[in-house]
Amino acid sequence: MKAVLDHIGIAVEDIDKALAFYKDALGLDVEAPEEVPTERVRARSVPVGGPVLELLEATAPDSAIATYISKRGPGIHHVTLRVEDLRAALAQLTDRGVRLVNSEPRPGAGGSLVAFIHPSAAQGVLVELKQRADLDVRLDVKRLTFGDLQLTVLHDGPFRLDGGAMFGVVPRPLWEKLTPPDERNRVQLAMRPLLVEASWGRMIVDCGAGDKMAAKQVDIYGLDRTCALDQALADAGLTSESIDFALATHLHFDHFGGATMVADGVLRPRFSRARYLIRDAEWEDATHPHERNRASYLQEDFVPLKAMGVVDFFSDDSVIKPGVRVERTGGHTGQHQIVYIESGGRTGVFVVDLIPTTAHLQDPWVMAYDLFPMDTLAFKKRFIREAIEREYLIFFEHDPKVAAGYIREKNGKRFVEQVL
Ligand SMILES: [Zn+2]
Repeated sequence: MKAVLDHIGIAVEDIDKALAFYKDALGLDVEAPEEVPTERVRARSVPVGGPVLELLEATAPDSAIATYISKRGPGIHHVTLRVEDLRAALAQLTDRGVRLVNSEPRPGAGGSLVAFIHPSAAQGVLVELKQRADLDVRLDVKRLTFGDLQLTVLHDGPFRLDGGAMFGVVPRPLWEKLTPPDERNRVQLAMRPLLVEASWGRMIVDCGAGDKMAAKQVDIYGLDRTCALDQALADAGLTSESIDFALATHLHFDHFGGATMVADGVLRPRFSRARYLIRDAEWEDATHPHERNRASYLQEDFVPLKAMGVVDFFSDDSVIKPGVRVERTGGHTGQHQIVYIESGGRTGVFVVDLIPTTAHLQDPWVMAYDLFPMDTLAFKKRFIREAIEREYLIFFEHDPKVAAGYIREKNGKRFVEQVL
């Protein structure tokens, strides 16, 4: 089995007193406090390179930490090794007759799974095995009344992209704390098209990746087609036939791949009754790809639409339908747009790849995928200030956990107050 040192657990009587040494005297950074109710401990993590020192204070007299301290006083309590598959590791140890404290995984901090090996089997050291939190997410349809409009956050399932590419010039030690990567360095993302229902009809803004990908791409992008757009539409009481308009923010496969489908070996529009609304200059770029963007613009996603006569092109920033307005940001692609939803005095903004997830709130956290990152930066700096001041409700198309929320700023730190 492969295992890496995750952390060293240190039993302390009083975390605040322990911090006088680790934080103040040594000058180390300390992470926010965390409670693990199942273990009846309070923890503070102190990063020291890869592994961390975990300061543990008992929150109840029957906690293992309290028992340890009453017998031996404060000190090193356990060493934690991280494994890929905890169940497999426990089975292997059981086969070899190793004495375990826990023969079954139990819930640990931050959604992880843990199990202890008995110290008698490990030269007097209490060894904890840990498996990271499962990165897979359950996506749900979320609804919201917004002035005269009904908004529904749909989804086309989760997918994964390279963590380095998602965070551009930001070093991994900074982004991996917010978005832990899997063993292939990919981070968990989602595709969340937005459905707008109004008196003029139903519009879907973007429509996910669809089902045309080859098995190799499905594997590379970690697509899970068991909870895709058809399921989300069904959960909302709708079908593909319910859609009157499909608006493209840009024509990358993870945004508009779902616009077409294969039926009886033939490519055809996925939404049989819909008009497809596409910015003409984006169409030009998508149908004339170059080496840098060819892997993102898959011609079968959109070329058949024009051939079938179902596309309505538009040229400029404009109100597409009452309450739905587009604005070109550039940056990610030359014609990348965000979508303003305006009704009843409120403003919501579908920010697409300008701020793909809640981990991208800091101005320079710009994706390496962007063709014109300085344009992204310039637009984003201005936009986020405005979004905070005017309290725009932000829809995050790629965030696996937060579909929508308000960007707030306190003491120079940005965060999202989740709404959906
Ligand atoms: Zn995207």
